[in-house]
Amino acid sequence: MIVVKIGGGEGNRVDELTRDVAEFTAVGRQFVLVHGGSHLTNELANHLGYPPRFITSPSGMTSRYTDRRTMEIFQMAYCGAANKRLVESLQALGVNAVGLSGMDGRIWSGPRKKAIHTVEEGKTRVVRDNLTGRVERVNVELLRLLLGQGYLPVLTPPAISDESEPINVDGDRAAAATAIALGAETLVILSNVPGLLRDVQDPRSRINRIAESELKSAADQFAGGRMRIKLLAAGEALDGGVRRVVIGDSRVEHCLRRALAGEGTVIERPQTA
Ligand code: ADP
Repeated sequence: MIVVKIGGGEGNRVDELTRDVAEFTAVGRQFVLVHGGSHLTNELANHLGYPPRFITSPSGMTSRYTDRRTMEIFQMAYCGAANKRLVESLQALGVNAVGLSGMDGRIWSGPRKKAIHTVEEGKTRVVRDNLTGRVERVNVELLRLLLGQGYLPVLTPPAISDESEPINVDGDRAAAATAIALGAETLVILSNVPGLLRDVQDPRSRINRIAESELKSAADQFAGGRMRIKLLAAGEALDGGVRRVVIGDSRVEHCLRRALAGEGTVIERPQTA
């Protein structure tokens, strides 16, 4: 079992991913796909006259401010266009993909953050209407039901809160939780960078391998912005029993095949005897 997360940035080669998935599926590999939709959400939000807003936490992390209206737009992009684009592409290749959000069948559930702190112009403010949270539970029974009947689940945020509200959750961490719950041996995180770069400006500066024990120091030393979350997700996956995490490039031909062959940043658990 392999869980593959594809980001929602610009330049992703969805058709390259699905082509590889179809080829591997034909030889008996099982997959669950997880995807984002951030770029599309921003475009749609601007188009609808409700531009995206971002919240900066006191520790300097930025995240999307997700009020009800933003959540509607988010769902249009993630569960609508982005999800169905992957489903269409897989179906055209003969893979019986089923697109579901984390809300459906409570595939991803967990607590909503009821109050978050945001820093604006140096002042800290509390935001209470933000629909965000984290995945604490994965409905593996439903995923196994689908997989067992030959369907390929294509999953996307939002997740569902314990009070049954939609919550925006991080896709990389949701993918890690899914990989853990399914006992996947590999988690592939495809994004619009070649992997973890020593210098984010230099695409040739990729770090090819990181020992699990070095993960935190590599994150502190090199990763900025959203790459930090990918490494956090990678650490969570390894802690939860996933053997190998590959952070690979989503913009290249055969993006999945290459990532599985180790092209990217590979983080592995040490082999136990
Ligand atoms: P996705 O939408 O695919 O989930 P993101 O764009 O959210 O991906 O996260 C990847 C981003 O992390 C890159 O586009 C890059 O700008 C940023 N980043 C920061 N530091 C690094 C680094 N050291 N190596 C690679 N990417 C980095």
